[in-house]
Amino acid sequence: MSLTPRELERHKRHILLKEIGGPGVQRLRAASVSILGAGALGGPCALYLAAAGIGRIELWDDDRVDRSNLQRQIQFTDADTGAGKVERLAARLREIDPDLTITAVARRFAPGEAPSGAILIDAMDNFPSRFALNQFAHTHARLLVSGAASGWTGQVGVFASGVHHGAPCYQCWVPESPPAAEACDEVGVAGPVTGITGSAMALEAIKLITGAGTPLMGRIQLIDGLSGTSRTVRLTCDPECPVCNL
Ligand SMILES: [Zn+2]
Repeated sequence: MSLTPRELERHKRHILLKEIGGPGVQRLRAASVSILGAGALGGPCALYLAAAGIGRIELWDDDRVDRSNLQRQIQFTDADTGAGKVERLAARLREIDPDLTITAVARRFAPGEAPSGAILIDAMDNFPSRFALNQFAHTHARLLVSGAASGWTGQVGVFASGVHHGAPCYQCWVPESPPAAEACDEVGVAGPVTGITGSAMALEAIKLITGAGTPLMGRIQLIDGLSGTSRTVRLTCDPECPVCNL
């Protein structure tokens, strides 16, 4: 797939990066990504991936825009209140680049569903869906980019247990729903922390697709917005893991 003059102009700043270049932009144009969750993490992640020219983006979410979302979900405006999130986000992405193929799936991901992307982005807010997506990624040999944000902290990781033997999966990191797991709307979160985290998820997807740098495979980046620090921890496979310890 060669790049048109219009694409060369649009993606010039990525082409100038030696780790991406023209071949990397072509890989981005040929890539397919499913973003599960169109809220505080999925929004900025989707905006950056569309701007990067990801050829096919599939959005999953059954939620509608609530006014309390607008403090952090900057992909939406006040006029979007009450509208379906995936429809509104898909419209935003088409505005960014009309040449992309954007699919909106107005359902919550659940066991039995089959997102189509070669890379799956977990931007969801509940553990049953996260565990089900991890199982799907492992079984169907997809790469999983996972992110979460709460309070002043965010975390991002890449899980490749279905692709690389011996790589840890999401459930090696989070074996079960934390006992005090609270619904997203019951805890506070600093708006920009969700933007940093969602953007970091987009960055990891771009690295995986283009081969640039070192993806956070088997590692978790922990971002502390309150102290302005971040650190990375390395994961190992949980020998008791019900998903990847076969
Ligand atoms: Zn595992």
